[in-house]
Amino acid sequence: MTETCRSCGSERIIPSVAILDHDYINERQAEIAIDSRPSFPLFKGRTVGKISAHVCAACGHMELFASNHEELWEKHLKVSEKKENKQKTQSDGTGRRPRVR
Ligand SMILES: [Zn+2]
Repeated sequence: MTETCRSCGSERIIPSVAILDHDYINERQAEIAIDSRPSFPLFKGRTVGKISAHVCAACGHMELFASNHEELWEKHLKVSEKKENKQKTQSDGTGRRPRVR
């Protein structure tokens, strides 16, 4: 199957181009992250995915892709479920936060 550009329809697509994140010394492939404990300074329960791009050589349009999307989805579900449970225990069922007396 030939991939085509969503913007211009060209078949001149460069797949899986690394997106680099670097300073003057270090260089690495850019990542996205989902944390299960984002407020923690360490041990955030982080799941990361490497980011790559498919680049159209005709018009420059790019699309981003995560390396481990299935693992990220599972983490997202766990974090969402945890947030939902936390809100349920704090709520009286009206969707408002309980009053503190
Ligand atoms: Zn294009």
